[in-house]
Amino acid sequence: MLVDLPQPESSIFTNAGTSQLKTTTTMTTHEPKSDFILDEEGKILPTIENFYQHCANRKLMGAKCTKCGTLACPPRGICQQCLGTGIEWVQLKGDGVLLTYTVIHFPPTQFLSLAPYAVGIVKLEEGPNLPAMIKNVNFEHLKIGIPLQIDFETAVPEEWPKWPRYFFKPRT
Ligand SMILES: [Zn+2]
Repeated sequence: MLVDLPQPESSIFTNAGTSQLKTTTTMTTHEPKSDFILDEEGKILPTIENFYQHCANRKLMGAKCTKCGTLACPPRGICQQCLGTGIEWVQLKGDGVLLTYTVIHFPPTQFLSLAPYAVGIVKLEEGPNLPAMIKNVNFEHLKIGIPLQIDFETAVPEEWPKWPRYFFKPRT
C-alpha cells in the first residue's frame, strides 16, 4: 500500500536558508518556548520580563555591563557603576548565601495561600544580591550565611505578575 507520510514541516524547509533551517530545527526539538522581547537587532533586551522568561527556561541570568563588567541580577538597562547601556546576558550558577531574611505571616492578598513563608536577600556567588523566597527549609534552620541554591517553580502563578517564579532552597 502506498502511504503518504505526513510531512508537516516540509513547506517550512522549501525556501529555507541555513539559518532558517537551524531555527526550525530548534523549535521542533521541544526547546522551551521563547517569548523574549527583542531590540531591533534581535538581541534580548535587559528587561524584567525577559529575566523571568529566562526563569521559565530554568536559567538564572544576569546582565553584564560590556563597558566595566559590573554584573546586575535582576538585569538593568543602565549600568549602576558607569551608566553604560551596553549589556550582555550571562548565565549565573544560582548558588549563594543568605544575607538577611524575614518570615511573613501576614502577606499581601495574592500571597495569602503561601503564608507563612520566608523571604530574604541572597548574595550570589557572582556578586549581586537577589531578593527571593526561601523554601524547603524549617524556619528554625534559617540562619544568615547558610548556603542556598536556586530552583524554579513549575507552575506559573494565576495572578499578576504571571511570571514563572524562582526561589532558593538549602544547597544540597
Ligand atoms: Zn558599567
